[in-house]
Amino acid sequence: MLTYKVQLYPNKQQQAKLVEQLDICRKLYNKLLEECKKAREKGEKLTQSKTQSFIVRLKNNSMPELKEVYSKVLQMVNHTLWVNIKSLSKLKKSGRKIGHLRFKGKGCYKTINYNQSGFKIDEYKNKITFSKIGIINCRGLNNRLRKNKIKGIILKRSQTGRWFANIQVENTLTDLPKTNKRVGIDVGVSSFIVDSDGRRVENPKNIDKQLKKIKIAHRILSRKKKDSKNWLKAKLQLAKLLAQVTNQRKDFLHKVSRFYVRSYDFICVEDLNITALSQKGNKNNKRSRTLHRHILDASWGQFFSYLSYKAVNADKKVVKVHPEGTTQECSRCGRIVKKNLSTRTHLCPYCDLELDRDYNASINILKRGTGCTSLLVENRPLVTISASAIVSGQVFSMNQEIPTLR
Ligand SMILES: [Zn+2]
Repeated sequence: MLTYKVQLYPNKQQQAKLVEQLDICRKLYNKLLEECKKAREKGEKLTQSKTQSFIVRLKNNSMPELKEVYSKVLQMVNHTLWVNIKSLSKLKKSGRKIGHLRFKGKGCYKTINYNQSGFKIDEYKNKITFSKIGIINCRGLNNRLRKNKIKGIILKRSQTGRWFANIQVENTLTDLPKTNKRVGIDVGVSSFIVDSDGRRVENPKNIDKQLKKIKIAHRILSRKKKDSKNWLKAKLQLAKLLAQVTNQRKDFLHKVSRFYVRSYDFICVEDLNITALSQKGNKNNKRSRTLHRHILDASWGQFFSYLSYKAVNADKKVVKVHPEGTTQECSRCGRIVKKNLSTRTHLCPYCDLELDRDYNASINILKRGTGCTSLLVENRPLVTISASAIVSGQVFSMNQEIPTLR
């Protein structure tokens, strides 16, 4: 199962309704939990289907407001409660000391779960209809869902007060055609990726700009009095910025990984668990290193995990190779050509091969992953692809094919 996240744009009325429904769900959760606790005190044992039947009774008696919420959503509240109860008792059985399930305070219930039914998606108009809520505008539905079977939608309110729909679909990539192509991918600091087919994918440029803004927001927050109105405002501002950076980065990583899984059957990358990340060619000085590097490190790991799960879904393969010396080795003759971090070109004194440093590494990665030693390696100009071109979808369409070496 895959999840697509799209942002929703409910109008004022719908927002009020959503907030109200969340609170009704919260009250129901607490009520059912209370029933479970009462039953236990009496030595009775409740089951999920029993508490399920309470809902109907509550609807007709003490909680008529339940009628405001779609019935399947209420069922999922019960389901959530039982998932919690079961995972708690599992922990208990494994010998851990744990307390009881707690009642949810105001604002602590965060999801409205439409399972199987109660929604209708119009991906052409970018609208989703939710039973008992109405038609909500959203962004980002186009193209992605057309062919897929939708299992459910979970509405969620973010910390910053925005609404998102997590659309759960059955695996989408399974029908990707085989390409019979293989690629080696080198990730780095100066460019995000250089691959063995001669593409250089640049790092998203906005990171630095955003980091500056985040630093300023941090500083503003630290100057405010804690819990004051302005402090809360500044905190929200910071959360918004952080969410923005995360979302942009994820979007970029999804798009790049999708491209590689579509285009290749066999993808070789370095095993980052082994790589001392500091080896990854860091030209920056120590000061600017920390936060930027932190983000990059996280990006590589995330990129590989996206790549892996997308590949599994599409019946394709990602191979992790030992990273030691991929930069130093000559991809044509296999000898070691020492270079320091600032050397951008691989120049082999033994076989005269002259290549971009990262391109050389990507070929070595491909060789290690495939076990193939007889690749014909030649110098070629790299094709640079900007991050913004990827995010906007201009690049990485199938017709922009770069011929492969083999
Ligand atoms: Zn050589």
